[in-house]
Amino acid sequence: MTKRLFWEDMYMVRTDAQVVDIKEIDRHYHVLTDATIFYPGGGGFPKDRGKINGKKVLDVYDENGDIWHVLPEPIEGKVFMEIDFMHRYDFMQQHTAQHLLSALVYDMADGTTLSMHLGDEYSSIDVDVPPHKIDLPSLEMEALIAISQAREVRVRYYNRGDTLPPTRKPLKWDKIKGDVVRIVEIAGIDVSACGGLHVRNISELAPLLLLPKIERYKGGSRIYFYAGYRAYSMIDEYRKEITRLKAHVDELVSENKRLKKQMISYMVEEIWRGSEVTDTNVGKMIVIKVEDPDMVSAVAKARPRNLDIPILVIGGDRFTFVGPDDIWEQMRAYVRGGGKMGSFSGKVMDREGLQTFLGVRI
Ligand SMILES: [Zn+2]
Repeated sequence: MTKRLFWEDMYMVRTDAQVVDIKEIDRHYHVLTDATIFYPGGGGFPKDRGKINGKKVLDVYDENGDIWHVLPEPIEGKVFMEIDFMHRYDFMQQHTAQHLLSALVYDMADGTTLSMHLGDEYSSIDVDVPPHKIDLPSLEMEALIAISQAREVRVRYYNRGDTLPPTRKPLKWDKIKGDVVRIVEIAGIDVSACGGLHVRNISELAPLLLLPKIERYKGGSRIYFYAGYRAYSMIDEYRKEITRLKAHVDELVSENKRLKKQMISYMVEEIWRGSEVTDTNVGKMIVIKVEDPDMVSAVAKARPRNLDIPILVIGGDRFTFVGPDDIWEQMRAYVRGGGKMGSFSGKVMDREGLQTFLGVRI
C-alpha cells in the first residue's frame, strides 16, 4: 500500500521517495514507490502530471492500493518526484467549487448533484431539477458570498463503527466498502464523503464564474462553472474581447458617419441640380423643399458661390433663408429664428402666412 502524501498535504509539490518495485511492460517501466504525491485520478478528479528524477511520468494508476508510475526509463533507489502543481491546483479549485455549488444548489433549489465533469476546457455539475428551478445569478451571488467569508475546508477520517457526521444523503457503514471514510467539509456549508483533492479554504476559489446558461440535461440541468485562475483567464479573455469589439464598433461608427456624410453630400448635390428659380411676391428666389429637416442646413450651406438670388430651404418646420435683410424682416412675422450676414435659420410658425407672403407653395 503506497503512502498517499497527496492526502496529507495537497499542496506538496515535490518529495523524495523510495522505489520498492519495478516491472517492464511494453517497453515502459511501471514503478512503485513507498510514498507518492501523484494522485492517480478518480472521483472525477484527473491524474497528476509530473516528473520523477526528471523523467516525465506517462501515467499513474492505482492497483489495489498500490500507486504505480509509468516511466520511459527504469529508475531505482531513492528518487525525486515533482508534480505539475499548476495543473493540480487548477483542478483542486474546480473540484472544491463543485462541492460548494452542489451544496448551494441543494439548499436553494432542492437539487441533488447526480454527476460532475471536471475538464480541461470546462467544469459542470448535473443536477436533478429542471433549469427554471435554478436562479443562476442568485446561485453565483451565494457562492461569491461564501467565498468572501473565507470558509475553511476540513478533511476528517472516520473508522468503521465511528458515528458518521450528518451528510445530505446519509452515510451508512453497511453501504461502505472500506474501513475508513474520508469526509470533506466546507465549514457551515457542505459535508461530503470524498477522496478527491481540495483547497484549504474556499477563498482560494475566487474569482468564481458561472456561465450564464443552464442546459437541460436528462430532465435535469447542467450548470457550467469556472473557479480561480481559470475564471480569471476567462474574465481576462472577455475583457480583451470587449476591447476588440469596442474598437471594431468605433471603426464601424466612424465609417458609418463618413458614409452618411458622403450620402448627404450626394443628395445635396442632386437637390441643387434639380432646383429652379421661382417668381415670388418679393422677387426671384430659389425655394427648395427637403423631406428630412436635418438636411436643411446642409442644403443651404451647399449653395453655389456668388449666388445673387435669395434662397429658402424648408424641411418639416425648419428653414434656412439666405437673402437680404429687408425680406428677412418681413418674413419674421411668420417664422421664429435668427442669423447674421444674410443667413437666417429657425422654425416656421405660420406656414399659411408665409405661403401667402411669398405667393408660392412651400
Ligand atoms: Zn471532493
